[in-house]
Order: sequence, then structure tokens, then C-alpha cells
Amino acid sequence: MRWSKTYIPTLRQKQTEAELISHQLLLRAGYIRKLAAGIYLYLPLMQRVIDKFSNIVREEMNRAGALEITMSVLCPAELWQKSGRYDTIGKEQMRLKDRHQHDMVLCGTHEETVTNLIAGEVRSYRQLPLNLYQIQVKFRDEIRPRFGLMRGREFIMKDAYTFDADAESFARSYQAMVDAYFAVFKRAGLDVIKVESDSGAMGGKVAHEFMLLVDTDAGEEDIAVCNKCGYAANVEKAEFKDDAPDPTDAEPKDMETIDTPGAATIEEVTEFLKVDATALAKTLMYKADGKPVAAMVRGDRDVNEVKLRNALKAVDLEMASEEEVLKYTGAPVGFAGPVGLKDVQILVDPLVAEMKNMIVGANAGEKHIKNVNLDRDFKAAEVIDLTRARGGDTCPHCDGKLDVKDGIEVGNTFQLGTNYAEKLGAKFLDADSEERPCIMGSYGIGITRTPQAALEKYFDDKGIIWPKAIAPYLVELIPIKMDNENQVAAAEKIYAALTEAGIDVLYDDRDERPGVKFNDADLVGVPVRITIGDKSLKDGNVELKARSADKFDLVPVNEVVEAVIRLAETLN
Ligand code: ATP
Ligand code: MG
Repeated sequence: MRWSKTYIPTLRQKQTEAELISHQLLLRAGYIRKLAAGIYLYLPLMQRVIDKFSNIVREEMNRAGALEITMSVLCPAELWQKSGRYDTIGKEQMRLKDRHQHDMVLCGTHEETVTNLIAGEVRSYRQLPLNLYQIQVKFRDEIRPRFGLMRGREFIMKDAYTFDADAESFARSYQAMVDAYFAVFKRAGLDVIKVESDSGAMGGKVAHEFMLLVDTDAGEEDIAVCNKCGYAANVEKAEFKDDAPDPTDAEPKDMETIDTPGAATIEEVTEFLKVDATALAKTLMYKADGKPVAAMVRGDRDVNEVKLRNALKAVDLEMASEEEVLKYTGAPVGFAGPVGLKDVQILVDPLVAEMKNMIVGANAGEKHIKNVNLDRDFKAAEVIDLTRARGGDTCPHCDGKLDVKDGIEVGNTFQLGTNYAEKLGAKFLDADSEERPCIMGSYGIGITRTPQAALEKYFDDKGIIWPKAIAPYLVELIPIKMDNENQVAAAEKIYAALTEAGIDVLYDDRDERPGVKFNDADLVGVPVRITIGDKSLKDGNVELKARSADKFDLVPVNEVVEAVIRLAETLN
């Protein structure tokens, strides 16, 4: 492609709307433009990146036996009512009415559509397993669209859905997708890890996320990784062993209400009473689907709201407001406690359940209670893990320690079970002619998020450094002077030879100053650069250099194709 014939509107100035380096670079290098919050237009360079990445995904999906289809973005609300998600998915779902006043939705995922597709059509176990996928636009009215393509309201996803007759067959289908995912990200030049995750709105039990670990501010997810056995889980889901000293030998003592003037936070109370935070239990007040809930974790720990939401099977979960805390407990924020709490469901973490003589809020301003014991002094609706794992915790599977790292979720895999198949009627007759629901899985990859995520790793102070497999072009060809006949002749020859060899070349044929061309080349981030200048051309050579390298090699004009191929082999 000749630069003069394509459209690459690069920008020199910093783009204030972009917090992340990857977002900044995509705007400045002319890959994307914003239309509205979370809605972006993909310009020619971005389109090429999307196509390259999509093709890798497509090839690996096809290799794994998945079949490409395209489902509609519009879907009658009825299907989502059947699955039950119409009431639970919340405001993220874009809804509208058609001219006949029928309720419609714009799909943010396609479990309902695909299950409905095969319901009544797949009738026998002989037609299974089946794996259908698409690469297509999704709509989600994200509460905080941000970071460019990372969290858009309209974005592109690859989503695949498997249907199996039995558990063994499903295990094979799931593993095939996991293997395909590793193959996809490896080919794209991305080193990802697979972590256990919460299945959230999908409603299944087992789920995994594929995470790109990053050192920048882009990691929206916290990942707990064991430094010994390789256990890795999203902190939302992570289990751990707690190392605090065993409190079980203390004898229960009599409860005692104490004044704690001016001490409301854990730090203030521990300071005032001269005790360790592990002697306290925090009682946090929430509102779950409109009802008051108290969640108790040990004073030194934090509540994991995903675990709490799952324990409650709640659709809406939020911290109680100051007024609500006053209403539920009779005391201002900071003094909630379990003793004498009425009409509030109390969930207790196991680390609190094993505490003896704990200190809790007294449900009265400026007061706490000492020597409180579960069962004797208050009852728990349930004892269930509510604690957020943190760095330094012991691994749940070995004696290693958990590190918490920042990651970007680029893909995920869910084991859905039979929920959707039952609700939407995807049933088949097994070998004994018994009717059974299909066992399903669903599998997503962010087609627009992933390339931007790559840029959180692959950049320098001058611009982008694409992994070669998802770069818009492999080679950028730059004659220093377009009014120099020899340079132009060599450029045309090399352009033709590379194109002939099937190599994607961006030929900067603009009549611009060399500095402008080099700056743009660094910004745009094509992995290999060929520079044609008089000095080397005198001896029949051009300069060949990787975007990531400082030094160039001199290569004879006639040998450029082989030299480019050799250099590309050494690049990520
Ligand atoms: P997240 O936790 O980041 O919101 P999710 O769990 O909602 O992701 P899925 O619904 O499983 O993700 O979507 C599959 C993939 O689609 C994700 O792994 C991610 O790569 C991509 N994706 C999800 N939401 C967005 C979005 N708002 N913008 C861009 N890509 C997205
Ligand atoms: Mg989401």
C-alpha cells in the first residue's frame, strides 16, 4: 500500500482523553477515532490489525472443529425472558422497541440466540458434539466505558458455543477450546496465562480467563498467582490459606461494651484499644436486592464482593448508604456489629467464625463490644468464604505464596452446564431414546480489545512496536527523497518484489521531510523498516532495521526479500 493512497491521520499532540498508553498510541498513530463514549471507528490501519487477528482466531477455531456462522445483533427480548436473563442482566443490555412495539435487545453475548437456533433442530446424540462460533459486533451499555477499545460499548468479539451429549464429550470440547486459545495468543505474539474465574452472569460453575499480565495502569483485573505450584485465579475468585495465629485456645469471656470515642475505622479502633486488627471483626452493611445484609470479615481483611454476591445469589448488590446504615443498625457508619442486629441477614466468613472473644461494633455511636462469640452472642445465617485474597497469602493448594498481579482479560471460557439448554429447549434423544438437555460451553475472545492490550506491552517512547502477526503491515519502505530518481526506482523495485513475495508493505511515497516520515514510522509501529538513501544506494544497498532495534543492516537491493524474511523470523 502506498501511504499517499491510504488514510493514516497521525497526530503530533498528546490526546488528553486517553489515560492509557495503548489508547494514546491508537489515536495518535491514526488507527481509531472516537464517535461517542465507548464507540469507536476503526480506520484503515486498525481494520488491517483486526483482520489479521480475526484470521488467526478463525484459523484456530476452524482447526479445533468449530463452525463459523453469523448471528443477528438484534434479538427479540422474548428469548432473554425465556432464559431469565432479561431480569438479571441489568442496564448493560441495550434495549429498544421496533415499529410494532415489540421489545428487542442488542446482543452483548449470544447464548440465547444460539441455543434457540439448535433447539428443535438438533434431535439426536448423533448430531453432537457441535461447536458454532462467530466474529461479530457486540453491544453493552458499559457503566464505565473507557480506555478506548479496551472497554467499549460497541466492540467486536469472537464467541463460540459448544453443545455436547455427555460430560466426557464436553470435557474434550472445553479442552479443545482452551488449547485453541493458547494457540491463538501465541501466534499473536502474546504470552497469556489461564486463570480460574468467577462465572458471574453466565451462571455456570467452572470458568477460566485468559490474562495478559501488564506493568502499566491498564490491568483492570487483579490476578493471584502462586509462586510455587502455578495456581492462578482472578482475585474475585481466588482461594487462599490464612496464616494468622490460631485463636482457638482462648476461653470465652463475658461480653463487655466499651467506649471508643472518636474511633470508627479499624485503624482508629486498633490504635485506641492497643490490639491487633486480627482481634476485630468488621461488620459491613450492604443492600442486596433491596434487603439489608451484614457481611463479617476479620478486621485485617477485605470483603470480596463477588464472593458475597454469589453467596447471596443477588442481582443487585451495593454498600448501604449512610442513612441505610443508620436505619439498619441504629448507629452511624463505623459502629455496626452483629450483636442485637434485627431483620438483617448476617453472613460470616470462616476466619471470623473461628475467632474467640472478638471485638465488634456495638450498633451505638462511639461504642464497641469486647469478647463477642459466634452462636453464643449472635447467629450467622451462613458461614461462607467472603474474604478477598491478597498478596502474601498462602496458596490454597501448596505452601507457596500468592503474588497479586495486574492483568487484562483478553478471552474467557465458561462451562455453562444445562441451564440454557433446559430453558430454551435444546434437547436431544440419547442412545437409549431418553430426552436430555445439551451440556453447553461458551467461549469469548476480545477481537478489538486484544490488539490494544498488546500495545500495553509493545511500545517505546516513540510509538508502537507491533508483534508481527497482528501488525497492519510487516514492512515500511521509506525512500528519503521522493524527488530522487534513483531512490524512487529502488523503492518501486523493492515494493514490487516484496508484494510479489506476499509480504505486506506500507510504502511511504509522500513528499515529506525524512524526519516526518521516520517519526510517523515509529509511531505507526510496523515491525520492519527499509530506508533508502543516497549514501548506501551508491553501493547498491538499502538499510534494513527492526522497529525494536537501534541499528540497521546494509542489504543489497536484490536480496531484500530474503533479508526481510530472515529478520522477521527473529521478531516476536
Ligand atoms: P470484563 O470482565 O472485562 O467485562 P466479560 O467477562 O464481560 O469481560 P465476556 O462477556 O466473556 O467478558 O466477553 C468475552 C471477551 O470479550 C472478554 O474476554 C473481552 O476480551 C471482550 N470484552 C468484554 N467486554 C468488552 C468491552 N466492553 N469492550 C471490549 N471488549 C470486551
Ligand atoms: Mg463485562
